[in-house]
Amino acid sequence: MVKVPLYINGEMRQSGSNEWLDVLNPANQEVLAQVPLATDSEIDEAITSAKETFKTWKDVPVTERARIMMRYAALLKEHHDELATIICHELGKTFEDAKGDVWRGIEVVEQAANAPALMMGETVENVARNIDTYSYMQPLGVCAGITPFNFPAMIPLWMFPMAIVCGNTFILKPSEQDPLTPMRLVELFEEAGAPKGVLQVIHGTKHQVDRILDEPSVRAISFVGSCGVGEYIYSRGTANLKRVQACVGAKNHMVIMPDAKKERAISNLVGASVGAAGQRCMGISVAVFVGQSKEWINELKEEFTKVRPGVWNDPEAAYGPQTSPQAKARILSIIESGKAQGATCLIDGSDFVVDGYDKGNWVGPTLFTDVTREMDLYKEEIFGPVLACICVDTLEEAIQIINESPYGNGTSLFTACGAAARKFQHEIEVGQVGINVPIPVPLPFFSFTGWKGSFYGDQHTYGKQGVRFYTETKTITARWFEDDIATGPNMSINLR
Ligand code: NAD
Repeated sequence: MVKVPLYINGEMRQSGSNEWLDVLNPANQEVLAQVPLATDSEIDEAITSAKETFKTWKDVPVTERARIMMRYAALLKEHHDELATIICHELGKTFEDAKGDVWRGIEVVEQAANAPALMMGETVENVARNIDTYSYMQPLGVCAGITPFNFPAMIPLWMFPMAIVCGNTFILKPSEQDPLTPMRLVELFEEAGAPKGVLQVIHGTKHQVDRILDEPSVRAISFVGSCGVGEYIYSRGTANLKRVQACVGAKNHMVIMPDAKKERAISNLVGASVGAAGQRCMGISVAVFVGQSKEWINELKEEFTKVRPGVWNDPEAAYGPQTSPQAKARILSIIESGKAQGATCLIDGSDFVVDGYDKGNWVGPTLFTDVTREMDLYKEEIFGPVLACICVDTLEEAIQIINESPYGNGTSLFTACGAAARKFQHEIEVGQVGINVPIPVPLPFFSFTGWKGSFYGDQHTYGKQGVRFYTETKTITARWFEDDIATGPNMSINLR
């Protein structure tokens, strides 16, 4: 049985814990490995190593730190398909989709390699006579990251490369559901030349996270996961006077205007709603049909019937299983609530099974119409391959519905009208907007900017905001005397 190691002070180490969880292949419940719940003393060792390493790592020139990221990006590319295959086994994604998970993470590492430019401060000469002011961005110290199951490559890569290239050391607590992918990322990071101690990995669940939240030397915490856990981490972390950025749950709407290109809109809607088994925080879970576009729901239904989940190496499979039997049971209960609360279920994927994989956590594509905003189906984040259709008469109504949603992660508009697109992008209260783009996840030279109930914090993940999150600004006001003439004390706060 594979025992997932901890990574402490540059060493892959077997945990001495007597609490272990199974890592399951969600397509057949095969036990792939066991992951430990790290003990308190192991966490303390990781923290001590991160604190000690920071003392030297912060003084390694930023160009050298960036070069490690260049080598790391190259190595990740070399091992791209291997990493994707690990994701396929422990999370069940199709191979194509798993490759996307790896690639979107590599793009962040490439961005981290730009650290010297991203860490440039500001400067103004002669702010007062012979006085110059300039600022530097300096690392914080020990930072930590807690990641979800659904992007086991991309989301850890959102965090530790940016934090470490800025001169911090980092403690990662990956999802206990699919820890094999992040451990391979760590091995490759070491191979790229990352010195011992800059990155530590501890495994576990709430107790291990609490230790990080309460540890005074941890300066900043990045979290990605569900709303409830994110709110808890944000509250406890900030109560302990740490910086916290928490990217949390979502309920994303796609608006379809009657002037949109019909086939494009429908095929984009299918991919964005049921792709990755609906386990994407930027996936579409509500389709808002404006005016006559509601007549396309029948064609959408036909397209849904063609979608078939399957195992990762079946080239015909559109998506894989749900992550766990518990996740599947939750999705099925929301589907039942939709029926009980009066929505029309056009396609029900509750009983779907893949031949030969009857123990897999399968949910077939599920399509509802006549959905109202009072229904659980609309209110709850389902995180499954379930799409709810709503019909309205005007773009204004669609905008109002989205703006009244407590979430604000992503949204998209399909239209051929520039004026409608301009109105939508200006008025919508959502942080990431797609115009004829269904899943507008920004590339890493921008930041991942969820709004409202989808994000707690201030500075967002990656891009310039990621660098600000992981650094402190130091502002220096300097004067060099050309003579030694005494001028007497300056009793005012004015610079002179
Ligand atoms: P989760 O909240 O259950 O777990 C996330 C992490 O928190 C894991 O590492 C887990 O071990 C830890 N954790 C779980 N319970 C905890 C507790 N009580 N105290 C402390 N730590 C705890 O999330 P998940 O099911 O792994 O991921 C799915 C969720 O993540 C969805 O809600 C999805 O929308 C969200 N997500 C958001 C984004 C985003 O960018 N906004 C991206 C991906 C996923």
